[in-house]
Amino acid sequence: MEAALLSDLYARAQRERRPLISFEFFTPRTAEGDRAFFDRTLPALAALRPGYCSVTYGAGGSTRDKTLGVVERIQNDYGLPAMAHLTCVGATRAQIEDLLDDARRRGIRNLLALRGDPPEGTTAFEQVPGGFRYAHELVTLARGFGGFSIAVAGFPEGHLECREGKRVDWERLKAKVACGADAVITQLFFDNAYFYEFRDHLVDRLGVRVPIVPGIIPIQSAGQIRKFVALCGATIPPALAARLEALATDDAAAAEFGIEFATAQCVDLLRQGVPGLHFYSLNKALPVTRILQNLEGSGFSLGRPAGGS
Ligand SMILES: Cc1cc2nc3c(=O)[nH]c(=O)nc-3n(C[C@H](O)[C@H](O)[C@H](O)COP(=O)(O)OP(=O)(O)OC[C@H]3O[C@@H](n4cnc5c(N)ncnc54)[C@H](O)[C@@H]3O)c2cc1C
Repeated sequence: MEAALLSDLYARAQRERRPLISFEFFTPRTAEGDRAFFDRTLPALAALRPGYCSVTYGAGGSTRDKTLGVVERIQNDYGLPAMAHLTCVGATRAQIEDLLDDARRRGIRNLLALRGDPPEGTTAFEQVPGGFRYAHELVTLARGFGGFSIAVAGFPEGHLECREGKRVDWERLKAKVACGADAVITQLFFDNAYFYEFRDHLVDRLGVRVPIVPGIIPIQSAGQIRKFVALCGATIPPALAARLEALATDDAAAAEFGIEFATAQCVDLLRQGVPGLHFYSLNKALPVTRILQNLEGSGFSLGRPAGGS
């Protein structure tokens, strides 16, 4: 059976007035990581019947085959729709075309089209000769291929490198969507006010009509969050910073707090009618499982389909 398209999944969830729940995974780097992921994490999270799963694409295209392989396995072994992340890093247009052909042969129909983060050890994105500079070029190429539903990244606080300010970044996001994207998935954030300002600006001022889906990260430790924030530029509100400081030496307590914090964030977002929740699972089953249980316990019907489609 053909995998469902992201555009259809969001449209159906919207018709049924339920949020579409999605989980993001990264590809494990070691044999031990592989075992933990395939033997425990993936079965546990697939059992929650998310609307779809997505799989990241490592720096420099290093995970190309692995990303496509994990997406295929999620689709084939678990019957869940899945999405492959794809970046412009280190690849020529011809190489990206090969990858799109490969994805299509494997029955992969959903892509998150990204510019990509610079490879480890470097700080700036470098366009390769014959390659792309911005994600919108990748969206245009994939759209031209046909048969793919495409999501793009959005930044509620503006992209870190956009010196002209967040509103200019959001104008560029609008243009990127216009190249053929079906959904926007956001970078993590810890104050929902940033998300609402971003969403309202895109919808009310810029006329963006595709689902704008918040990305949620369950905090696992103070150190982990400091690292992520340094990479993506998200703001840690003072009250959260103080709490994380107090939990700096107790990772178990920080993770427990992270579940509470993400639950509260999701409750507020669901009340504001978001079309879905995209969880950065960090390949851990427990936090996301607990957050979804909390949401259902608070009366939210997440309507996760039994068959995953
Ligand atoms: C949900 C999600 C998943 C992600 N998954 C991955 C992953 O799997 N692998 C990975 O490597 N990274 C991933 N990232 C990170 C992403 O690759 C980086 O944030 C990257 O720095 C920007 O990617 P983009 O697709 O938003 O780029 P773009 O949309 O190309 O934007 C990059 C910068 O260029 C600017 N810009 C865009 N268009 C123009 C233009 N026409 N003229 C001038 N400036 C312009 C923008 O304002 C922005 O500052 C993910 C991010 C998110 C939110």
